[in-house]
Amino acid sequence: MKKHIIPLGKIMGIPVGLDYTWFLIFMLLTWTLATTYFPNEFKNWSTFEYWITGAATSIMLFVSVLLHELGHSILALHYKIRVKQITLFLFGGVAEITGEPPKASAEFWIAIAGPAVSFLLAAIFYLLELTLKNPVFVYALFEYLAYINFVLALFNLIPGFPLDGGRVFRAAVWGYTHDFKRATYVSVIVGRFIGFLFIFAGSLQMFGGDLSNGLWVAFIGWFLESAAMSQLQQQYLQDNLSGHTVYEAMTRDYAIVPEDTTIREVMDNHILGIGRRTLFVKKDDKIIGLLTLHRIKNIIQDKWASTLVTEVMIPETETEVVKTDYPLWDALKKMDKSGVNQLPVIEDGKIIGVLNRESIITYLRNAQEFISKGIFARRQR
Ligand SMILES: [Zn+2]
Repeated sequence: MKKHIIPLGKIMGIPVGLDYTWFLIFMLLTWTLATTYFPNEFKNWSTFEYWITGAATSIMLFVSVLLHELGHSILALHYKIRVKQITLFLFGGVAEITGEPPKASAEFWIAIAGPAVSFLLAAIFYLLELTLKNPVFVYALFEYLAYINFVLALFNLIPGFPLDGGRVFRAAVWGYTHDFKRATYVSVIVGRFIGFLFIFAGSLQMFGGDLSNGLWVAFIGWFLESAAMSQLQQQYLQDNLSGHTVYEAMTRDYAIVPEDTTIREVMDNHILGIGRRTLFVKKDDKIIGLLTLHRIKNIIQDKWASTLVTEVMIPETETEVVKTDYPLWDALKKMDKSGVNQLPVIEDGKIIGVLNRESIITYLRNAQEFISKGIFARRQR
């Protein structure tokens, strides 16, 4: 788990954690419930009673969100897709499901499971609310949770990425057309349309005088619209990179420096003014590590002259590498997954190039330019 996440334990083998931002939303929600929502609904409670009921309700809401995410996770596990972890954070929860669903029905069931759990919780809390009127604090808690779980289920079913409804919709189109790519494009269009609809409705509300609600609705619209656009970009990348290999997009623009080089020398001779982004460190003709801009940024300038590259480099044993014939699209996913910006490219155990985000962008740009002139062919070895 990342270091800003507090581990809570495991459920069905899935690590569950709290992001620090969760405390912010927990306090905000408790505060709103204790000072506005409950005092409006229920009179004559003591301040303590408002706050303790508010806090208990907030915690129960996050338990509900956790159950929603577990709904997705159980179905993912059913389809043999690994769930890396569940994290509760500022905007609710997220189950990190690694890998794409193998078929439309799998995507459909995994996506619908979350809202289904929320609907079920809403029904359970509603029944409890009807049967248990005392003590009034517990009744208040049930009432709020019945309402909020219902809203959560509905909101998540809005057919726009990355909400569950977006996935349900894509799965439906995918199942109907048997064409994953087309399904993605159709759901992006629908997602953007709904995003604009929210922005439009929010603007109308704002002009009508309801500024804060209008702003919220417009904000949700903007969020849906940009999420749909990033989905489109993702699909564009996949379309253009699939079928090509790492060798076609790698760069040979790297340098190899001896182990006793200082960061100062690296900056002066390779980075400042030259703009090289990747360097390898060698010892007796053997590559022992990778030096990245990202790592160097952590060293303050005063220490450049006294810091050796070996202190900053990523040791060769911890560096992920790819072979020249590795699929380009998979390589990009690998970078995202391990959070790196470059992958050394090896052939027969020797480094012959580097694949990084810049080289992929350059490759895409060249491909575009030459395809339009009809002279782009696969770079052959
Ligand atoms: Zn969900």
